[in-house]
Amino acid sequence: MSEKWVYLFNELDQAEKHVGGDWEAVRGLLGGKGTNLAEMARIGVPVPPGFTVTTEACNAYLASGGSFPEGMWEQEKEALTAIQAETGKTFGNRENPLLVSCRSGAKFSMPGMMDTVLNIGLNDETVKGMIELTGDERFVYDAYRRLVQMFGNVVMGVPDEAFEEILTEVRKKQGVRTDTELTADAWKSVTEKFKEIFKRRTKLDFPDDPYVQLKLATEAVFKSWNGKRAVDYRNAAGISHDLGTAVSIVTMVFGNMGEDSATGVAMTRNGSTGENQIEGDYLTNAQGEDVVAGIRLTKDLTQMKTELPKAYAEFEQIARRLEKHYHEMQDVEFTIEKGKLWMLQTRDGKRTAQAAVRIAADMVEEGLITREEAVLRVTPEQVDFFLHPQFDPEAAKMARTGGNMLAEGLNVSPGAAVGMVVFEADLAEEWAKEGKQVIMVRPETKPDDVHGMLAARGILTSRGGRTSHAALVARQFGKPAVVGVSSLEIDMGRRQMAVKDKIIKEGDWISIDGTVGEVYAGKLATMIPDIKDPWLRKLLSWADEFRTLGVWTNADYPHDARRALEYGAEGIGLCRTEHMFFQSDRLPHVQKMIMADLPIERSEALKALLPFQREDFAGLFQVMNGLTVIIRLIDPPLHEFLPSQVDLLRDLADLKIRLQHAGKLKKIDELLGKVRNKERILKRVESLHEANPMLGLRGVRLGILIPELTIMQVRAIFEAACMVSKEGVDVRPEIMIPLTTHVNELKKQREVLEAEAMIVMEERGVEINYKFGTMIELPRAALTTDQIAEYASFISFGTNDLTQTTFGISRDDAEAGFLIEYMENGILPDNPFDTIDRDGVGELMKIAVEKGRAVRPGLECGICGEHGGDPQSIALCHELGLNYVSCSPFRVPIARLAAAHAALRKK
Ligand code: PEP
Ligand code: MG
Repeated sequence: MSEKWVYLFNELDQAEKHVGGDWEAVRGLLGGKGTNLAEMARIGVPVPPGFTVTTEACNAYLASGGSFPEGMWEQEKEALTAIQAETGKTFGNRENPLLVSCRSGAKFSMPGMMDTVLNIGLNDETVKGMIELTGDERFVYDAYRRLVQMFGNVVMGVPDEAFEEILTEVRKKQGVRTDTELTADAWKSVTEKFKEIFKRRTKLDFPDDPYVQLKLATEAVFKSWNGKRAVDYRNAAGISHDLGTAVSIVTMVFGNMGEDSATGVAMTRNGSTGENQIEGDYLTNAQGEDVVAGIRLTKDLTQMKTELPKAYAEFEQIARRLEKHYHEMQDVEFTIEKGKLWMLQTRDGKRTAQAAVRIAADMVEEGLITREEAVLRVTPEQVDFFLHPQFDPEAAKMARTGGNMLAEGLNVSPGAAVGMVVFEADLAEEWAKEGKQVIMVRPETKPDDVHGMLAARGILTSRGGRTSHAALVARQFGKPAVVGVSSLEIDMGRRQMAVKDKIIKEGDWISIDGTVGEVYAGKLATMIPDIKDPWLRKLLSWADEFRTLGVWTNADYPHDARRALEYGAEGIGLCRTEHMFFQSDRLPHVQKMIMADLPIERSEALKALLPFQREDFAGLFQVMNGLTVIIRLIDPPLHEFLPSQVDLLRDLADLKIRLQHAGKLKKIDELLGKVRNKERILKRVESLHEANPMLGLRGVRLGILIPELTIMQVRAIFEAACMVSKEGVDVRPEIMIPLTTHVNELKKQREVLEAEAMIVMEERGVEINYKFGTMIELPRAALTTDQIAEYASFISFGTNDLTQTTFGISRDDAEAGFLIEYMENGILPDNPFDTIDRDGVGELMKIAVEKGRAVRPGLECGICGEHGGDPQSIALCHELGLNYVSCSPFRVPIARLAAAHAALRKK
């Protein structure tokens, strides 16, 4: 007996047995489509009778150089006989002709890659029978010409243009624009003309014999596996070339056989909202294509309830059964032929982020899936959707096709923003106060732009990377931002920017999409999803049950901390104290402290700063009652707090010109004073100048050189802690030293810190439990964490700096330069400032955790670099056994889900 090459849809059990019961192997044997149809048949869903010729047959055919394997064709004919018995129709019979489609279907979906032939079985005789059966001559000839065309093109290789030319000619002659307007006679003559083309091109008559049609169509599908399109697709998609394709032969069913026939498409749940209600469109007395092509106005599926009640009831029941079987929302196609319902296809349905969340949560309640499955089904990107306004997809599409997309840049802070362009922070603030919506546009932003950024709806810069100032601030405050848009030419002097051939002036409207990094001209419509969505809350609470990683937040102000708490944060992993220094009521004191020539001047400036810091910390402690607050001591180089050298030189030149023209003595005196002051600042700026400030006097080095600074910050922290602790707040401060590279730095800072903490606690008569620790953001620190752990009871990976110093790539400039090219050329698989580089930075982290915990087993390890909100990096942090990840408040819900994914996938 020959091998079995053909399986009827109701022989799925045999196919399973043939491959040893392995479900993946069944898909490999029968292809995705064949398996799906057979599976529906097995669970009792009515699918048009049919069978599948296996991928093994295809591979045998291709290996032999073009002969069917022994017994295959006989088996195909036998299967056809079985279909005839089942349908009561006969292949080639005029009275009640059986028509079939011949479809390719590999193990993996390869959309549009291989070929399909429809309406096999039509010839001059059966056409007549079909016309009698349907009473629709136009439809039958349209079907017939399609067979000739598809067969000619797919099976015999006649170029499609030859057929299309004729169609164009006929349409012209009939004076119509679309095929739907063509009459029955027109289709009849098109069919004749197609046959002539067929003969002219192939030197053969179009085969009348349905068996010849089927045999050649089967062969053509086999051969299409090695067609250029298919090979290219597999190369691109990484699909193996030796899988072969299966061929499914399916009885054609028609929805246009009268008013008791119909055809439609449906989703088993609402794909936009996720509501558990079937939704779809259908048409009575129509073909499937009519529904999809939108030529006729379709009807809402609910109408089918009254129009075809019996079929609808059955359809509804099948939809539920399919969901139960696949444990997923399904997207189905169906046809009703003379009152009989047939399901033609089912697959997992596409859905919006909102629908994905609701469907996953509902399916748990319905007992269809487990909580774990639900959590794994929702992606971090889908959760992100709930946190920011989005552009209406239709509006974005129209803007794109209308040529209003201006440029692309780095998508550093998600969400959509619409506003008037403003090039300067003060003006941004002023306009916002007047109630205007603004987008702040700058070549790059600096700390003294922050008030403008806060007032703006979104931020756009032409320079800078993922950890640039603009990106960090935008993420922290949840402002949509696109940075590094190199095609923007900003002309600050003329208050305008040029992009492509457009000039955008200050006050013009633009729209930016920080989720994808796109910039549009004009106002795009937005929609605002809701973080309080009850299904999202439910899903995230399940995620919390599964994750072992803590999720903390980076927050500097009480209102950020409050938001983060609402989003589910369990602590503050990083409070960047210097951000408080930049506020306008504090900056003068900071500048005074930097400019001080005498210790007394410095200590006065620091004294003035102290109450501000104390108040800020007290606010944070109050909000975070009972939770850890990690406060990092000052980090950036001091020149960042002073005006830039360029600005100072410009101001000085300005003042000197005014001085030359000043007449009155009083004016001269006043200007001279200003000149001296500016010169003094300039001198200080020049003295602070470093070739590489990122590798210079910053971080702990500042604390070592100016211990008064550390003392002031420590005093502010402990005064605040004592104060709120007396109010009954449970304070848990942890003090963190930045940019440590050697254990001795830590030793020294700890002495200063402990002494001051002790003094304050004694003064106030309160004991505060606190921890002392450090950031690990330099390779040397990572490699010597055993020494560091002697003095630090916690470490937190500052992966922004750790990536910068491990790669030797500037975090501020890289993405505007070669890094993008590196990624495009595949030299780097991912942007290391987005996703932790496992092999380098990840390895350093691993060493640090191991060495640190070897010395201090309970060492608290976390991460507070931007990577703390990136799902892939979160998975790595889980593997490394960190205690928590800390990210901006707006990433907290995403991190909760990603941490649960990491835990569940490791199980
Ligand atoms: C880091 O370097 O990862 C970090 C969190 O510190 P900053 O970004 O403030 O330098
Ligand atoms: Mg850092």
